[in-house]
Amino acid sequence: MKTTSNSFKSTCCYCGVGCGVVVTKETNGQLTLEGDKEHPSNKGMLCSKGMNLHYTVMDQSDRLLYPQMRLNRSMPLQKVSWDDALERTAAVFKTFIKKFGPDSVAFYVSGQCLTEEYYLVNKLIKGFIGSNNIDTNSRLCMSSAVVGYKLALGEDSVPVCYDDIEAADVIYVTGANPAWCHPIIWRRVEAHKAANPHVKIICADPRRTDTVRSSDLHLQIQPGTDIVLNNAIGRILVEKGYVDNDFIRDHADGYEAFVEKIMQRTIQEAADICGIQPDAIEQAAEWIGKANGFLSFWTMGLNQSVIGVNKNLSLINLHLITGKIGKPGNGPFSLTGQPNAMGGRETGGLANILPGHREVLNATHREEMENFWKSPVKIADKPGLTATEMFEALADDRLKAIWIINTNPLVSMPDINVAESALKKARFVVVQDVSNRADTVHFADVVLPAAAWLEKEGTMTNAERRITHLPKAIDAPGEALPDSEIIWRFAEKMGFGKSFNYQNVSQVYDEYVRVTAGTSIDVTGVDYDLIQKNRSIQWPLPLGQETYYGENPGTKRLFTDHQFYTQNKRAQIHAVADENTSEQPDEDFPLVLTTGRIRDQWHTMTKTGRVAKLNKHIPQPFVQIHPEDAKDRNIQEGQLVVVSGRRGEVRVKVQLTDDVRRGLCFLPMHWGKILGSNLGRANNLTNNLVDPKSKEPDFKFSAVQVALYKKP
Ligand code: SF4
Repeated sequence: MKTTSNSFKSTCCYCGVGCGVVVTKETNGQLTLEGDKEHPSNKGMLCSKGMNLHYTVMDQSDRLLYPQMRLNRSMPLQKVSWDDALERTAAVFKTFIKKFGPDSVAFYVSGQCLTEEYYLVNKLIKGFIGSNNIDTNSRLCMSSAVVGYKLALGEDSVPVCYDDIEAADVIYVTGANPAWCHPIIWRRVEAHKAANPHVKIICADPRRTDTVRSSDLHLQIQPGTDIVLNNAIGRILVEKGYVDNDFIRDHADGYEAFVEKIMQRTIQEAADICGIQPDAIEQAAEWIGKANGFLSFWTMGLNQSVIGVNKNLSLINLHLITGKIGKPGNGPFSLTGQPNAMGGRETGGLANILPGHREVLNATHREEMENFWKSPVKIADKPGLTATEMFEALADDRLKAIWIINTNPLVSMPDINVAESALKKARFVVVQDVSNRADTVHFADVVLPAAAWLEKEGTMTNAERRITHLPKAIDAPGEALPDSEIIWRFAEKMGFGKSFNYQNVSQVYDEYVRVTAGTSIDVTGVDYDLIQKNRSIQWPLPLGQETYYGENPGTKRLFTDHQFYTQNKRAQIHAVADENTSEQPDEDFPLVLTTGRIRDQWHTMTKTGRVAKLNKHIPQPFVQIHPEDAKDRNIQEGQLVVVSGRRGEVRVKVQLTDDVRRGLCFLPMHWGKILGSNLGRANNLTNNLVDPKSKEPDFKFSAVQVALYKKP
């Protein structure tokens, strides 16, 4: 029976769908939670992770409760005051900066940070310390999409919204499993198809996932052949006359070079490379060509690749040659894996960008931010270290100190041994986190306890550019502080107190909003009071230029006038090479490993791993291989196997299934330690190759072998 006393509307802090939730504080002190029926993104629906979100804050058994530090790693961490922890950190940072320069320190943050937190860390290191060494775990999941959008559309701007689902008649899902990873999006897709049987769903994926099971056409391509497939679809669209010549003439460049490129392979050659039938490519192209609404969704299968940017461009090309963008139901939609990956992009939370989609390499942009912040230093004119570069630089002592906020790189980084030895060698490590489940805590010189979801306030932006407000609903335990407050207190210890003299988060938000004036993400019409009152608004919404629709203020869809953010206002079609440059299999490691999520876990399980109900779905890590590959190796269902690669191994139970292609195996990414060892950690096997433009790692393609485990 419900004993409601106090209800709060908030936003789920897992994936980038950004579902609205209503949390109720019951009179018995417990929390209950349900989907927010009034929230435009989820309309009351929640997935298994979202439904159980409140348990993660009610269980405080492993919370970090007070600051701790140690003078060297052989000593145990000891409880200290906030002043002591921040003063020592500031003293160490100042010493390194004086002796080795500002690039000797770095912040590694997270797509789970709120927008105000992202903004403050950027302001501190870029505008006051004078280094661009801030990067985020979002580098590991969507930086290829950022670059793809920029190169094609002029800026990192998602052109579409969730309401485009119901206006589409062909939905192309590629390199994504939204049925498990973005379930509420997928429920909207399935409901739309159920009500409109003519709607076609195409899914390109080397695995047969739950998303594939509700699709009309599965293009079960060989891993790494996405560009070959998209170019072949492009060729058929050109040859069959599905191209929008008026749109190309008036609004896009690069078509001739694109045609020349895609004509270099026949459809039969492309089909052979992809390992599928030419008819299937013809069918996909025909549906796309005839569609009134062509919407594409993608995530890590395209992004987490050594050719991730080109994969993105090859997909966006299909929208540009057909003019299927800037109209209801049409457009390329990059889904985001984290709740505020978008907010990080907006506030400059990558090593190469500045707030308001400004660029580090642009002198005018640097000057605008220096003036705005009244910076005591020049903003560095070169990008800082990206995620993988930071750990490489720590390992060889180019980087002396790292401050890790709300992320767990010892499970999530590729080629994990590099990250682990880097943290061991690092001269100074600060870890700011919610719980001691994060493996990084054990490598820290200073540990700072952070407030969790519901214990702090601020804003986030979901995958459809929707900024939402999250109120503080409960107090943080012990001495834990909101991340924003930790940063502004530290800035004061560094001697920047005058510029970080905030009393509350709304002041940080309102300052950030002023930075966006005149940029493509201009939200000067959305002050903190309005976002609190309205709960969610899609950017841009400039002051005095209200583009209202229905009851929801903001801009639902971009490029409706086909004016893009490039200098000449024209979209750019790119002729992209289709060769995959991933690590190649050989005799010793003949299989390709791809890693990914399972339905009920999220990231490195520091939150979902605490919820008994979620752990029941799939309690242990596993590897999936094709039955024929298993037969070749005398492996039977459920046996313990060793998956080995050029950098390490894992030891897990095997599942035999033709859901994976022959030659492919799949390992979930979530587990760090199991039974006290790291033998379930997928990133023991992945490699450090990155896309040259986005610097995003190649998580979806590593060479491995699978063999029966034999006791030594
Ligand atoms: Fe949370 Fe994503 Fe599930 Fe929505 S779909 S409830 S945002 S995890």
